[in-house]
Amino acid sequence: MAVDLRISGGTVVTPAGSVQADVLVSDGKIAGLVDSAVPTGGRVVDAAGKLVLPGMIDVHVHTREPGFTHKEDILTTSRQAAAGGVTTIFGMPNLNPPTTTMQSLEEVFGLYENSCIVDWNHNPAATLPDQAALMAKAGIRAFKVYMVVDTGRTYPHPAGTGMHDHGDLLRMMDTIAGTGKRFIIHPHDQALMDYIEGRYLERGENTPAAYAQAYAEREGVIWDTAIDVVLRLAEASGCPIHLAHMQTRRSIDAVRRAKARGVDVTCEVNHWGPFLSKWEHVERLGPYALSYWVPDDARAAIWEGMRDGTIDVCASDHAPHTREEKEIGWTQMWSSHTGTPGIQYFYPLLLDAVTKGELTLERVVEMVATAPARHFGLGSTKGALLPGLDADIVIADTGKPWTITNDGVLSKVGWTPYDGQRCEVSIDRTFVRGVEVYDEGQVVGRPGHGKKA
Ligand SMILES: [Zn+2]
Repeated sequence: MAVDLRISGGTVVTPAGSVQADVLVSDGKIAGLVDSAVPTGGRVVDAAGKLVLPGMIDVHVHTREPGFTHKEDILTTSRQAAAGGVTTIFGMPNLNPPTTTMQSLEEVFGLYENSCIVDWNHNPAATLPDQAALMAKAGIRAFKVYMVVDTGRTYPHPAGTGMHDHGDLLRMMDTIAGTGKRFIIHPHDQALMDYIEGRYLERGENTPAAYAQAYAEREGVIWDTAIDVVLRLAEASGCPIHLAHMQTRRSIDAVRRAKARGVDVTCEVNHWGPFLSKWEHVERLGPYALSYWVPDDARAAIWEGMRDGTIDVCASDHAPHTREEKEIGWTQMWSSHTGTPGIQYFYPLLLDAVTKGELTLERVVEMVATAPARHFGLGSTKGALLPGLDADIVIADTGKPWTITNDGVLSKVGWTPYDGQRCEVSIDRTFVRGVEVYDEGQVVGRPGHGKKA
């Protein structure tokens, strides 16, 4: 076995715990973890004093390509991924055309093949049962649907990607249940939201604060009722479910109880949940925050869920929009494009939380890499630093604090809601299947290096 690459002297985080070891890479795979005294050939990268981590597998990414490339595209998304320690991305289907058919899925696969720096897959929308059955055989890992319909906006939920009727949801779960794929659901109770947001708009309250209050109203009732329905239908169908955007105490408790009785449900938090959801963010950043407001008690429940394993996955929900699309939100928030970019900073911010004692390093690695690999069919190829798996490796420096700034943003939109925020941990290098894609501040990955995961 010829060793191509040796990452030496670091603290290697594995599913069995952290060990001092050198990581050997051969032909894009991890060949072994060895003591520093064992000689090999190959390029040596010094990681002494640093963390050696598996790359993040981000299952919730809005690349905006095709259809919205004035906001972002696959290349710019994957450049941010490389810089942020993300080695695999799963794109989302709210594109133009929306990914709802085999034809649109094959087209988007071609786009990733041409330009993605990191490994990739794509979550098509499961709204057409015949097409969903076909797409399940096309090498995807999951489907997505939004329980958001008829918002009167073309974005972020274009026609064809939403499904709210309970019968339609159960029919689709029955379709997906036999395919081995997981069904990602954006939970939302449209009928409740029509009533709640209607009252704000009747009063002429169309500000970021009003929007944030509407989505959080009555301790998040629009989230809780939707999640209760999804959990019950998951139990009735046996369809594996993945809940996006966890943010209320009741719904996190509901998932905890569902898991205890054996429901195949996983769930995620997004970067804004733990790091960008305080009332002060809504007030200071307005439309640039998101603006979901997660009240303090609910945010505490998110952190508890991340610590106790109820929250399985950290996924960015990277959702860039231009400043123009955001600025209108100061006075007409319901006309603003919601969502906020985050793929470049989520892993560093989670590692920063480790330095503050809020999470363990092992839980972070589980949530960003090992759990998404296991739950989305990549457990035999990715998600951990173990022999035989892909050499998707991140070297992080816990002794190199830095400040997130708009100047450092690699997104087309040129802004980050974290501008000015200090972070204690830097991503030094990122490798995808043993090939360096990010090196000390420079994206060095080749467009098209990424392969379908
Ligand atoms: Zn999203």
